[in-house]
Amino acid sequence: MRILILGGTTEASALAKLIAKDKRFEPTLSLAGRTASPAASPIPCRIGGFGGWEGLAAWLKTEGIGALVDATHPFAARISANAVKAAAAAGVELVSLTRPPWTPESGDRLIFAPSPEAAAQALGAVPRTVFLATGRLELPAFAAAPQHSYIARVIDHPGDAPLPPRIAFIYDRGPFDTAAELGLFAERQVEIVVSKNSGGAATYGKIEAARRLGLPVVMIERPEKPAGRIVASAAEAMLWLESQLRLHGSLSPRGV
Ligand code: NAP
Repeated sequence: MRILILGGTTEASALAKLIAKDKRFEPTLSLAGRTASPAASPIPCRIGGFGGWEGLAAWLKTEGIGALVDATHPFAARISANAVKAAAAAGVELVSLTRPPWTPESGDRLIFAPSPEAAAQALGAVPRTVFLATGRLELPAFAAAPQHSYIARVIDHPGDAPLPPRIAFIYDRGPFDTAAELGLFAERQVEIVVSKNSGGAATYGKIEAARRLGLPVVMIERPEKPAGRIVASAAEAMLWLESQLRLHGSLSPRGV
């Protein structure tokens, strides 16, 4: 069965690894093309947008896709809306691999913000050293709070986007563990952290490190993200794909 995985996340990479070993599936991983050198993929990969939900629906039909997996990031809402519409239009089953959000734990000093702009406001008037773990596309929002000194961890440089005047970059790609984050925050004298509520283990180290150091975290809340049937792990997505295989087999006139 031909499978399309909409990726760009740790979970999509985990699923790609699992499905690569299973010869019953013919998978393709799709990336938006946001990062200059994406991590190597164990399955065939295509890069770039489809041209809206109509383009995605046409691609699903042309390529004879039997099932669609939306394993995109919790903050990538547009592609997920497209996935729901395209799957319905093309008559393809859709599963959404979505990590649960992080929830507050004892000792956390979380300040919730509905958007990057609100997060910039939540940093307050007093100048502070801010660790930005939002990704490069959200950095322009912090130009509105130029009194702070920022340390932004990104995969690629944000190019000529407007930025706050005092910003240093750390170029790195997760996962990041708690011990490393503790060391980084101490070394850079970080006073406050800004994070998206991405969920998952790969980038939770910064939240745990902030808790241990008593640092506040401005947590950007998730957008509404349309979904198909929701699963929470790559292993669960594999089980769902196997169920689709059985369904297709029983629907096929030859029973294969
Ligand atoms: P988005 O706003 O939901 O999508 C914008 C457009 O990018 C989509 O309409 C689609 O273009 C294209 N696109 C997005 N994901 C794609 C994919 N996997 N394959 C092919 N085209 C895709 O997405 P975003 O927030 O910019 O995120 C882009 C990618 O980065 C996603 O793959 C996501 O998983 C990953 N990512 C995002 C974040 C984040 O915080 N947003 C963090 C980590 C990773 P067309 O309409 O032309 O098809």
